[in-house]
Amino acid sequence: MGLLTLGTPLSWEDTKKWSDHVRKHGIQQLINIYRRLKDRHGDVLKWGDEMEYMLVVMDEDTKTARLSLNANEVLEILEKREKESPRDYPASWHPEHGAFMLEGTPIRPYGHLMEHLNMVEANMRLRREEILSVLDQKRGETVLTLTSFPRHGCPGFTDPEVECNPTVNPESRSLFFPDAAISIHPRFRNFVRNIRERRGEKVSVNIPVFKDSNTPKPFKETFPIDDVEANRNAKDDHIYMDYTAFGLACVQCTLQASDLGEALRLYDQLAPLCPIFLALSAAAPVHRGYLADTDCRCNIISQSVDCRTREERGLEPLKHDKFVIPKSRYDSIDCYLTPEAEKYNDIDLVLDQDICQQLQDAGMGRSLARHFAHLFIRDPISLFSEKIHQNDELETDHFEAIQTTNWQPLRFKPPPPNSTIGWRVEFRPMEIQLTDFENAAYVVFIVLLTRVILFYNLNFLIPMSKVDENMQEAQKRDAVRQGLFWFRKEVLPPYKSGLAAGSDSQCNGGWKEDDKEYTKMTINEIINGKAGGFQGLVSLMNSYLETVDIDVDTRCSVQQYLRLIQKRASGELMTTARWIRSFVQNHPKYKSDSVVSEEITYDLTKVADEITKGVRACPELFGTPRTRSKVSLSSEGQKKLRKETPGKADIDVLI
Ligand code: ADP
Ligand code: MG
Ligand code: MG
Ligand code: MG
Repeated sequence: MGLLTLGTPLSWEDTKKWSDHVRKHGIQQLINIYRRLKDRHGDVLKWGDEMEYMLVVMDEDTKTARLSLNANEVLEILEKREKESPRDYPASWHPEHGAFMLEGTPIRPYGHLMEHLNMVEANMRLRREEILSVLDQKRGETVLTLTSFPRHGCPGFTDPEVECNPTVNPESRSLFFPDAAISIHPRFRNFVRNIRERRGEKVSVNIPVFKDSNTPKPFKETFPIDDVEANRNAKDDHIYMDYTAFGLACVQCTLQASDLGEALRLYDQLAPLCPIFLALSAAAPVHRGYLADTDCRCNIISQSVDCRTREERGLEPLKHDKFVIPKSRYDSIDCYLTPEAEKYNDIDLVLDQDICQQLQDAGMGRSLARHFAHLFIRDPISLFSEKIHQNDELETDHFEAIQTTNWQPLRFKPPPPNSTIGWRVEFRPMEIQLTDFENAAYVVFIVLLTRVILFYNLNFLIPMSKVDENMQEAQKRDAVRQGLFWFRKEVLPPYKSGLAAGSDSQCNGGWKEDDKEYTKMTINEIINGKAGGFQGLVSLMNSYLETVDIDVDTRCSVQQYLRLIQKRASGELMTTARWIRSFVQNHPKYKSDSVVSEEITYDLTKVADEITKGVRACPELFGTPRTRSKVSLSSEGQKKLRKETPGKADIDVLI
């Protein structure tokens, strides 16, 4: 888990004083891990998902849906259950930024068996039932997995309703988002204040509004309070936000590689897939009560945690700061990590040369050293007084303080000290879906795809600047159907060409450097292939599935997961964003003015809740799937696991 230290948070002034100290010891901690564990090998696949939940309370009488600020109480009960029976309990719980949010993971990771793919959905279902079991459902409380709650930041969007203006919000000074809706965990409050103080002004988020037939032209908001920064920063035709909008949820997936080399390779190969899966999972078309012209959360979060100073943003000459930094600390990645991919690193990397040298002197490969030297241009944004002085051999808090506040769609995770955990990669671009079926489908698709990448030695590399372009393309409205994405024409190494249908491509061979290596494709072509062109990811996955030992139930579930992604890619099924957008636009009370009112939000939330609970069908979103997901491995699966696990007594995966 990211750092969630309890203790006494330091002000920005004090954190700043310790910045160099944190960086210096953070790098030393990384070097110590690297020296000790760079040759660690033979780890088997372990992996797990993380789901971010929102607590909502619906009132039928007043037709309102609000975000319920009781996540902390819910979390306390759930954490107690987790502690009481750690062997049998299905889930592990963590606080999240919003006081209406929590995060749940399986209590132990899934393992290397194909059958583990069939446990994700069932485990997600158990997690959701756990949360529901402590909510007051009679009062209308429920739990939803929404990427963005439509009226997040609107007057009275929380339950209980709390006052909201810059005077009562000392941390954020926001006009819209009350400090009372930030998790009580000190880390998150500290973030909000320190981001603002480091930046030197309130954060400023502008997202293009969707221009419907009755949307005012130009669309210009009047704010409840005459606020200098809002007046200065809010752009015409944009939805303006002035708060750190962490209340935007995603589903993540962490995978353990067999060794450092495999982890680097997986990281690189997953990089070009981030924008593709961002577009496929798009689920965030409404913000602060307005329809946006974009479908995804990323550019919002990016602006909302942008702690760069004016100098770092290039608005003033460098005087106090060291670097002009092109991106926020939440943004797309800037470099590949393996030597083979180095030729595709075409983005100028702002990095700390001394740190880079130090890491290379410690034996780290050039690209990986540059990656960390790039992450370490940032200051720590949250520091606890109890944690300033650390034993760099045993602790890694300073390393994690910088590493885990570089919020990127991929994260390269070194092994924690004193643990059995190996080198890992975390896939983080995906927006969260309403149902456990859909979320399981996306997670399983990615995990399976990593097996296919390794098995066929696939190559998805394109210049990093093109991945960046794709990240922007992915967030556009209806990118799945309308977008064009840079993608490699041939992903199989030359010796494997002809393995899957459609590989009679004009492009001969995978490792050429000319510009014909990649072209623009639709998401449909990338996933489903095109006759005479790219064979499509799913055809490669199906070829792989024919080579592996897989039980009937798992095969049945996996087939339905693949089908969901295929049909989303082809446009036959809607993305969550498209579905929400169409729900709003077809609502009888919608006035074609981009406004998503309380009543529309209530109706949307109610329908979403029914779909999530399976009491309402939604064939346009995910068909009518019947998976055979199971909470535990079959007895054959368990036997197999024991046989195939080195040190059989110590099985630390879900069985
Ligand atoms: P963070 O918030 O830092 O990403 P979490 O603890 O919330 O970390 O989530 C980590 C994920 O990694 C969980 O899904 C967990 O099941 C999974 N996981 C745990 N151990 C391993 C391992 N050895 N290899 C891969 N994944 C693991
Ligand atoms: Mg987590
Ligand atoms: Mg989280
Ligand atoms: Mg995570």
